[in-house]
Amino acid sequence: MEVGPRDGLQIESRTLTTDEKVRLIDALVAAGVREVEVGSFVNPKAVPAMADTEDVIKRLEPREGVTYRALWLNPKGLERAIAVGRVRLVGRLTCTASETFVKRNTNRSIDRTFAEMPEWITRYKEAGIKVNGMGMMAAFGCNFEGDIPQEKVIGLIERGMSVLADHGCKLEHQDLADTMGWANPRQIRRLVGAIHERWPDLTLKLHLHDTRGTAMANALAAMELGVCNFDAAIGGLGGCPFAGHKGAAGNVCTEDLVYMCEEMGIDTGIDLDALVGAAKLAEELVGHPLPGKVMKGGTLSRFRHH
Ligand code: ZN
Repeated sequence: MEVGPRDGLQIESRTLTTDEKVRLIDALVAAGVREVEVGSFVNPKAVPAMADTEDVIKRLEPREGVTYRALWLNPKGLERAIAVGRVRLVGRLTCTASETFVKRNTNRSIDRTFAEMPEWITRYKEAGIKVNGMGMMAAFGCNFEGDIPQEKVIGLIERGMSVLADHGCKLEHQDLADTMGWANPRQIRRLVGAIHERWPDLTLKLHLHDTRGTAMANALAAMELGVCNFDAAIGGLGGCPFAGHKGAAGNVCTEDLVYMCEEMGIDTGIDLDALVGAAKLAEELVGHPLPGKVMKGGTLSRFRHH
């Protein structure tokens, strides 16, 4: 899932116009990206860059095989997503593996997050949305708490599963976010391996921030264990609002990830040259250089033809 228009743009100092956002999303879709997180329904006062999410969504052409997604964090956000339509409504619960981080971020404890899950399940059910997913932030480490033990992550997945089971639902999709860029490939292998062993049918998706330069290596480690769902940001858009320092890299870079896959013989269904074009457009729109590598070095097709 391309998350640049949401995870990336939300912390840019220059807010893109609705037109510019639509241009960027259209360029991504034209390159063959099939799932795009186009914005978030959060408090416009807290995240002014996402205030026009409704307008962006209304402007997007519905396209066969393309899914638009959006983020919400509270009941009001979900209501807005339902009202605007056109975005795929996913019944996904969220939790955080770091007690300190969840307190700072949401003024809640981990226990309270889980205690509130039944209300969310009810809310989703009332809206006719299937609840079968859970996201976990800071699953690999936290700037405020330190290392996150693997047993804790496994325990939280187990807890989410039992809350869902109590309400007649089943956890089918687990997203793990390396929110502050702590993960390393060995840790990824250990955790993904342990989850696969325990719950072979659980689909994993990774959200890897490149804060310390390991996102691509982490993605490859997960791919080698069969994980095939990743979030990625065009051009490597976005920093880490929680890193506490300026200049932090964003999510794993979409076109760099696609480049690596294609060079390894993994068909992504994406036109890499067109995707690089989208990355250059993103760079032009935000008005400063982006961390993506392939957009600077160029794809190999050009050199192979020499
Ligand atoms: Zn993120």
